Amino acid sequence: MMSFAPSDDKKISMVLASGNSHKYAEFVDFFKSFSGIELLYAGNFASSPGEIEESGLTYEANALIKARAWADFAGIPAIADDSGIEVRCLDWRPGVLSARAAPGDDAGRVAWLLDSMSGSSDRRACFAACLVIAAPLSNARLGRDYFSIEARCWGNVAYTPSGVCGFGYDPVFVPDGYDRTFSDLGPGVKSKISHRGIAVQGVAQILPDMLKYFSTCDKLRASSDEEGY
Ligand code: IMP
Repeated sequence: MMSFAPSDDKKISMVLASGNSHKYAEFVDFFKSFSGIELLYAGNFASSPGEIEESGLTYEANALIKARAWADFAGIPAIADDSGIEVRCLDWRPGVLSARAAPGDDAGRVAWLLDSMSGSSDRRACFAACLVIAAPLSNARLGRDYFSIEARCWGNVAYTPSGVCGFGYDPVFVPDGYDRTFSDLGPGVKSKISHRGIAVQGVAQILPDMLKYFSTCDKLRASSDEEGY
């Protein structure tokens, strides 16, 4: 089996388990200060682990399904996120089902959300994201093979869409402390205060040590394979 353990002067490669180019752009921005990490984009691979069913009931479960699938497929650590919008007047739905809340594209889902909330003056909502970083599955027998972190960004849902940046529900989400939507505010502000941005700031504290730990497990696994365990 391939080993991903890097030599000392080499970057550690990690794949973002998402085909969403907007998310990849956000993650590249988040990780630009990590000089030792090269973030690869799942969308650039010539092949893939195939359709990954997000059958989990929680953000963490779904992120873990995606991260494990890509870590095993690529043979390197993978980072995945699962995220959604939770709206108080909708009993905190659509949550983990945000990407599938309504058929069609992002604009259709924004229209669905505004329609579902029509007549409600309670606009309270949050974005939630769980980030999972998983090692290739072979590490599981040597120790913990994933880490996760979850974060939320609170705000209100606007009555009409505004702005051109971002994706998903960005055109109708006004984060606390601002009077414009994420789409109006743009990536500079969003990356600092968003659910993913906050989760990445947490990951930043532990990622280098985490990858070193995965790499140590990988070396141990490689030597135990040689010894026939
Ligand atoms: P997934 O995490 O790729 O399964 O998708 C989560 C869905 O939640 C996306 O398709 C969006 O509809 C929504 N979502 C998650 N994060 C964001 C965000 O940062 N901005 C806007 N919409 C988001």
